[in-house]
Amino acid sequence: MAGLSSHIRLAGWPSFTFLYVSPPTMSGWAERGMRSPHQVEVLGDTFVGLLTMLLGPIVFCMVVSGIAAVDRLRHVGAIALRSIAYFEIVTTLALLLGLLAVNLVRPGDGLAVDPAQLQLTDEVFSVGASEMPSLTNPNNISIVTGVPPAIHGIPGNYCRLPDGSLELLNDPRFLRVPSIHAEFAARGIPTLTVTTKDKLRLLLGNGGVPSVSVERARGAALPEYRIDDIEELVGTPAPDVYDPSASHYAMRIGLAALQRVPGLRLVYVSLTDRVQHAAAPGDELADRFFAEFDALLGAYLDAGCTVGITADHGMNAKHHDAGTARVHYLGDLLTAAGVPFEEIVLPITDPYPKHHGALGGFAWLHLAPEHRGAAVRALAALPGIEEVWERADAATIYELPADRIGDLGLAAAADTALGRYAVDHDLSQLHGGLRSHGSRHEQLVPLILSRPVRGPLAKRLHAGVLRNRDIHDLTLNNTA
Ligand code: ZN
Repeated sequence: MAGLSSHIRLAGWPSFTFLYVSPPTMSGWAERGMRSPHQVEVLGDTFVGLLTMLLGPIVFCMVVSGIAAVDRLRHVGAIALRSIAYFEIVTTLALLLGLLAVNLVRPGDGLAVDPAQLQLTDEVFSVGASEMPSLTNPNNISIVTGVPPAIHGIPGNYCRLPDGSLELLNDPRFLRVPSIHAEFAARGIPTLTVTTKDKLRLLLGNGGVPSVSVERARGAALPEYRIDDIEELVGTPAPDVYDPSASHYAMRIGLAALQRVPGLRLVYVSLTDRVQHAAAPGDELADRFFAEFDALLGAYLDAGCTVGITADHGMNAKHHDAGTARVHYLGDLLTAAGVPFEEIVLPITDPYPKHHGALGGFAWLHLAPEHRGAAVRALAALPGIEEVWERADAATIYELPADRIGDLGLAAAADTALGRYAVDHDLSQLHGGLRSHGSRHEQLVPLILSRPVRGPLAKRLHAGVLRNRDIHDLTLNNTA
């Protein structure tokens, strides 16, 4: 497989990572009779697919905004015209750069691959979209409930509630629907959820789902399955949650539980993006991570599991060439422009600041109606600000609960992060240059299944229109 790249770098979308189709990732599948994916085709198809996939949401967005806010266009005037012109120029440029990249890089050339050996088909690999903002909590809850945040109630890791209080959305009391796993548990179907971060275990374990996290594995038990000690079950001590191997340990817990409890019907393992925040695709750390991920994936297949894989979001570098973070500090900008506001909420905020310093590609502004126009004028024209939506439009377009979002939603460009005040963000703790997520540019995620997909979702999977929240339906109801 020499020469195959584990990722694709597209001009304009610097480093979207195909987390789960790199050769090291798939070799474990290959060794176990899955055969390797038709990587050449996958790479080629996805290369072309990416162009359309990423243009899709932007075009959709423009169309929706046009329909939904025709009367506002009059007020927006020059900005609307400028944004349409900008859109045209950027998409044309992106297409040209894409064509240029194809001709320069010539993906697929020089690969020592025997096509006869490549049997994994589109039936098991596709791409789809994650929820916006492209963050951990909204997407993990969407994946385990099968519904968007507008229904499950979690629009971010963090939000401001109607009473003005600021909340980390890690408490099950914020959930508005039960998870698929809770429904399984209620019907007596043995299931297990393993998370890396304990904040997610609280949410995903809600409703009586047997659950355990790597972060709190020491001394933890699973009485439902007569497991007294997780570390004893795995056979090694649990690593720190910031350790690059923490995700692997989560996979090991699932494997060990499958061996100990033969009746387990569904094991859900949620990994952390710590490595992706710190290391770009192709970095030594990233390759090491996926080699081990792949070996563990092979062990699940050996155990006879049907495996479905997706991601909660992508990841992009958001720093200058010199390594300093590229950030718009909205509080400083609005203060300088003399625009009063109540609150800036960064929905990526969570208890793990070493990952991203609370800087991502999305922000909510809470402010009085009379100041919204001034805020839009101060911020919308900044380089690196791509979308500005009022609350009602944001709720519709992103499928979010209107009572848990801000009065204005801002989405940033791939290489730009949004912050509150420069003094608020301690970037000294980051593992490396700022790599983060939250915007449209981290919305594309893989959908991978270890068995062919049949049934009503097959066409939609191949068309690339499914979401990560469809992974349970795909895996449980639509595989051959
Ligand atoms: Zn993250």
